[in-house]
Amino acid sequence: MDCIQEKNAEKCPCTYTSCDKRGACCQCVAFHRSRNQMVACYFTPEVERTYDRSMKAFLAQHR
Ligand code: SF4
Repeated sequence: MDCIQEKNAEKCPCTYTSCDKRGACCQCVAFHRSRNQMVACYFTPEVERTYDRSMKAFLAQHR
């Protein structure tokens, strides 16, 4: 299976555009999961812009 990083990056909502994992969703998930975090696409645009990827921030946006 070919990596479709460039295609994924076109739809990626993460505003940290210089990240080398941008569009490489498997690497993105692994990176944040290892830190007990969620990836950018699980956050509202307002929360995503804070770069707080914590579970606490994820849950707080749904209260
Ligand atoms: S969510 Fe994190 S790992 Fe994924 S593209 Fe954004 S900054 Fe990079």
